[in-house]
Amino acid sequence: MLFDASRTTSFLLALAAALGLASPPALAEDSAANAPGETAAKAILVAELAEDEDVEDIEQSEPLESTATEAEQEPDTDPDASEQAVREEPAQRVAPHIDLKEVVPEPAPSATVTRPEPEAGAEDETEAAPDTVQAAPEPEPEPEKASSFTLLGSEVMPGTSTRLAWSPGIQIAGLSQPTPVLVVNGVNAGPTLCLTGAVHGDELNGIEIIRRTVYDLNPEKLSGRVVGIPIVNLPGFQQASRYLPDRRDLNRHFPGSETGSLADRIAHSLFENIIRRCDMLVDIHTGSLKRTNLPQLRADMNNPDVARFTRGFDRMAVVHSSGSAGMLRTAAVDAGITTVTMEAGESHRIQEHQIEAGVNSLTSLMEKQGMISRMFVWGDPEPVYYDSDWIRANHGGILFSEVELGANVSEGEILGYVADPITNAQHPIRSTSKGRIIGMAVDQVVMAGFAAYHIGTEAEVPGE
Ligand SMILES: [Zn+2]
Repeated sequence: MLFDASRTTSFLLALAAALGLASPPALAEDSAANAPGETAAKAILVAELAEDEDVEDIEQSEPLESTATEAEQEPDTDPDASEQAVREEPAQRVAPHIDLKEVVPEPAPSATVTRPEPEAGAEDETEAAPDTVQAAPEPEPEPEKASSFTLLGSEVMPGTSTRLAWSPGIQIAGLSQPTPVLVVNGVNAGPTLCLTGAVHGDELNGIEIIRRTVYDLNPEKLSGRVVGIPIVNLPGFQQASRYLPDRRDLNRHFPGSETGSLADRIAHSLFENIIRRCDMLVDIHTGSLKRTNLPQLRADMNNPDVARFTRGFDRMAVVHSSGSAGMLRTAAVDAGITTVTMEAGESHRIQEHQIEAGVNSLTSLMEKQGMISRMFVWGDPEPVYYDSDWIRANHGGILFSEVELGANVSEGEILGYVADPITNAQHPIRSTSKGRIIGMAVDQVVMAGFAAYHIGTEAEVPGE
């Protein structure tokens, strides 16, 4: 456990440096201070086990409804919500253009400014940009030029990208550490796509998916804006923890409140300052507590806007889930922002295949939304839509799986065994339906009731 913790810490430090985060020394001090506190570590373990039993983060999908209820359609027609979503704040400064492909020279305490832009208008750069790969003139009609985009008090000019900082203001002011917010404002007008990662601080694949996606964008060729917040839960990330320092799950507190708990306040700050400025949001997660997920979207398929949105994601299974109260996805959809959750892989790990799948899918999405123009090659006729069920272990013991993630299984098929290491008893776990393994526990010690296999059963989207 200690070895793991120190390895994770050095990895996180490297990742923090790569993302241009401020003051890694504070992280090192933190870990050192915590190392002797074994009782604290024990308390955390107990808390995690207790919550694990609820499988409280795992969304159970219920069958797709053939007609969406009035309540579910309400967000789309709520004029207040959309008005709030486009509300502009006054800019305090113009954000410097930063080539996000360049390595940040060194983490500055303010984490905002790294390189001032040579005073050139966006239009001039289009003509003479020396570092654009190719600038073939488009025969299409002139696209509508973008306007500047004000976020977190900074004005991001069209055709520029920059790195801003968001701080929920809950820490000791002198020690507070802002979270980087990457903004690419395209030269041409278009929708605002937001990407959030590490709402659960130990879910790392999304951080890398956002880094690759955003750093690869050329503002000169972008229509619309992309806002990436690779590490929403920075305190959790630094501690390699899913939770906030107050042991709460941030993804149960959206849209938050200004006067509530720590989690409420962080959620509120993120939601009001950034999320409400988005037209579309992809919140990236992984499986929790030693479970892994096939790259997939969780989406409320009874919401027509969301259902349409899922068609833009190449090679993603789509699992219907209406979401629960307090989730970022649910709160954002309620505020009129078209939102899905993307799940990819396991927590605590960086998994190349999962990351590639996520980046590919976001690329296809931006292409589908008319934000970028690439020769995108679509995969097999996905997405495939699923309802889903969890199959639980009925005995405690050591779980050994016989199937792999993504496998197609039939009803009654043995998925794995739970072996009792003392009595030598072997208890098979069987599939309750015909479907595909869209999520599963990795081999581990389990207790009775542990959610071990997530089976997706193909479903039709209402109205199709
Ligand atoms: Zn998560």
